[in-house]
Order: sequence, then C-alpha cells, then structure tokens
Amino acid sequence: MIKDCATVWDSCLRTIRKNVNSQSFKTWFEPIRPVRLEEGALTIQVPNKFFYEWLEEHYVALLKRTIRQELGDMGRLEYQILMSKATQVPAAIAATDKSDANTPGSVDTGNIKNPFVIPGIRKLKIDPQLNASYIFENFIEGDCNRLARSAGMAVAAKPGGTAFNPLVLFGDVGLGKTHLAQAIGNQVLNEQQGKTVLYVSSEKFTNQIIDSIRNNAVNDFVNFYQLIDVLIVDDIQFLANKQKTQEIFFHIFNQLHQNGKQIIMTSDRPPKDLDGMEERLISRFKWGLSADLGTPDLETRMAILASKMDQEGLDIPHDVTEFICYNIKNNIRELEGVLISLVAQSSLNRREIDLELAKEVIKNFVNQMSKEITVEFIQNLVADHFDVPVEKLKGQTRKRGIVIARQLSMYLAKNLTNKSLKAIGENFGGRDHSTVIYSCKAVQDLLDTDMIFKDTVTDLQKKIKLNLNEK
Ligand code: ADP
Ligand code: MG
Repeated sequence: MIKDCATVWDSCLRTIRKNVNSQSFKTWFEPIRPVRLEEGALTIQVPNKFFYEWLEEHYVALLKRTIRQELGDMGRLEYQILMSKATQVPAAIAATDKSDANTPGSVDTGNIKNPFVIPGIRKLKIDPQLNASYIFENFIEGDCNRLARSAGMAVAAKPGGTAFNPLVLFGDVGLGKTHLAQAIGNQVLNEQQGKTVLYVSSEKFTNQIIDSIRNNAVNDFVNFYQLIDVLIVDDIQFLANKQKTQEIFFHIFNQLHQNGKQIIMTSDRPPKDLDGMEERLISRFKWGLSADLGTPDLETRMAILASKMDQEGLDIPHDVTEFICYNIKNNIRELEGVLISLVAQSSLNRREIDLELAKEVIKNFVNQMSKEITVEFIQNLVADHFDVPVEKLKGQTRKRGIVIARQLSMYLAKNLTNKSLKAIGENFGGRDHSTVIYSCKAVQDLLDTDMIFKDTVTDLQKKIKLNLNEK
C-alpha cells in the first residue's frame, strides 16, 4: 500500500502526542506541515531554523523512533525550512516551486538532510532584545564607572572567558546599569558572529517562568536558556522573595556557568544586600565581579550632557548646561529628561534656551521628584493617624498602640517604597532587617484576622497615595 505524506505524518503525530506534554506538542509539533514522501523519506516543513534545531536537540530520539515505526527501519525524516519574508527569493522562482503551494507567500529552501546527526555548529536565531543605541561609544567614562566599564569591555571581548563571570553591575536608578549591560551585548553581537545574546528584564523572566509552570513546560524553558552564550538579566532585585523563580534561575545559572557561558546581571544594590534572595544564589553572584556605578562628578555629568547634545544635534549655551549639571546630580536619566524638556519647552513656547528657561524646567523636575514616597512621609502619616509622636516609632517603647503603629509603618514602607528591608530598619532607630520582616508578618497576620484593622490600613494606603499627588 502506498501511503501519502499527510497520512504518515498524522499517525506520527498520534504517537508523538502520547509522548510529550500538550504544551510542547502545541508549540513544537502542531506548526509542522508534511510536504512529501519520497523513497522512504518524509519531508516536513518547519517555520524556521531555530525550530529545526530545537526539534533536533530535544526530540530527535522520539522522532527517529516514530518515523521508523511508520516507514520501517530505512525510514528517514527531512526538513524544509520556511524562509522569513526578508530573505525570500524572487516570486518568479517561488512560483515554480510546487511544494509550497499550500503555504502562500512562503518559499522553500534547500532541505536539510540526515537530521539524525546533530550538527556541530548551531547558529541560533534568537532576538537578543537589545536596544542598538546602548553602546560603549556613547557610554561616557568617569571615576564613577571606570571599573564597571572596563570590566564590561573585557567581558565583551571574551564572554565567559574572564574571571568576571558573573558580572554584576549595581547602583542606584538612572546611573547606566542597563546601558552598560546592553553595550556588552551589542558589542558581542557586532564582533563575535554566531554568539547568541539575550537581554531579559527580571520581570519578564519571572512572567515567563510563571507561564511555563502553568503550561507544564518548565523543562522547555530551562532548555531554551541553555542555548544562550551571553545572558543579561536586568534588575535582579525584583527576583526577591520569588522562591520558585529563584530556584529555576539558580538552575539556569549553574548550567550556563558550567558551560563557560557569560552571565551579566544588574541590581540596584550590591549582591550581599539583596534581601529575600536565597543565600546560595547570592554566594554564586559573588563568584565573579560586582562593580558599582556611582554618581558621576560634575565633570562627567558635563561630558555626558555634551555627548547627548552631540547625538541630538543640539547647541545649548555653556552657562545653561553648567546650571543643569550643577543641579541634577544623582540621576543621569533625569539629566537627559531636563535636556528633553528644555528643548520641548523652547520650541513649544518659542523661547530661547537660556538660564531662565532652564530654571523653570528644573523647578518642575524637582517637584516631580518630591512625589516619591519616602519612609519619613509614611511615618508622619501613620503617627498622625494613631496620634502618637513620630519619635516613638523610632524608639524602644513596647506599648501596644505604639508597637502597632511602628509595625504598620514598616509594613507600609516595605510595600509602598522600594527601600530595602535594611534601609527601612535604619529609619526606625537602627533596627535590623529581621525586625522589619517580623513586623511585616505581624501586620499581615492582623490583616488576615481583623477586618477593622484591614479597613484602617486600606484607608491609610489610599491617603498616602492621595496626599502624594496633592503635594
Ligand atoms: P539604570 O539602568 O541604572 O537605571 P540606565 O542604563 O537606564 O540606568 O541609564 C539611564 C540613562 O542615562 C540612559 O539613557 C543612559 O543612556 C544614560 N547614561 C547612563 N550612564 C551614562 C554614561 N556613563 N554615559 C552616557 N549616558 C549614560
Ligand atoms: Mg535599568
């Protein structure tokens, strides 16, 4: 009996479905189209090369077994890869190719023979998720970032091959962590063809893990990350208290590190201060180099501003740039923000960019900044609400009313600011982070049992956010 390719592939799918979980089946097998069956070889079409490599790496044994079961011991599988639009051959040629008649707009490349031999060199097509404008050339060097910048360049020249693995870049917001981490990735891509780079924020990473758990596809997730040569994970402080995510990250980290792959992480604090992070992870973070990005001095700020103006083709009087750099000290993103507002204000209101306009713009910026919720702000509000003096929150009194106000302030500080437990403790007369944890737990217990208390807390939370916006 002569079988046709669709029938053969259908019965292959039935076998495969029994051997892989439903998510993997959907992801990796449903998109496959049978193309032809000739001389004991079944040709299937896959959406891209990555797909083919993935199948080869993870399902080769299963595919081999299934094909032999259908076509006998001499049965073979051949792949056809759908080309992306960008690399399509001219339509005239495509039209003569009958094999892709049922997938309009697509073109058939040469088949890949003998897929049961795993090819030695894999060129993966993974979108690195990098911003191409974050490069070393426009990352201005200063005392504040010299170590981090040169470590970054060393890593980019030899990913996985230096002592700086992992490389942890830490520092306050707006000081260039993301820029520098991405510059490394961009440099590797430009100078070392064939390396696979991936940038991922910790939030995205966490969400991917949650999805993979929900879809019962954690293994696929972990395996996918093993394909990366240079992995950049941004803002790892967001992994705090996410136990499952940390566990899977630990696993990925170990395998990559063992295989000499480069890991780059950024954090808003040094690894040792990452509360809510497993000790074994922190100890691994310390294997390589932690380099901090500090606040730039006036000279560096001037150089950064000059470089931005250069990029934007702007020409602003020296006294104005100096004024800006004198006033915006702690955050380079803000420095850029002022520059952008200045340009916008000047063109909207048809005003010259001068010192006066700069003063107005900066005044707005400073107001916006004061809208950040601070621990002090929370302490004042809570003290007010419970009618206790603020100093008592920082003192040692064990009176119940005061203890509750104190614990609640810590709880709110933990939830409404992005201060570390340690920093919060310091705001309460130098208590340590375990006291803050204990307080949060006590408040949570009370919230779970006491409805009136819960209403009070909800009100207070609203009030904090509201007062903030009225300020
Ligand atoms: P972080 O990730 O630390 O919050 P970013 O990397 O997002 O900070 O940097 C904020 C902005 O400041 C970005 O637009 C970045 O290009 C710029 N920036 C930071 N450091 C430098 C530097 N040394 N030279 C030039 N631009 C910088
Ligand atoms: Mg960042």
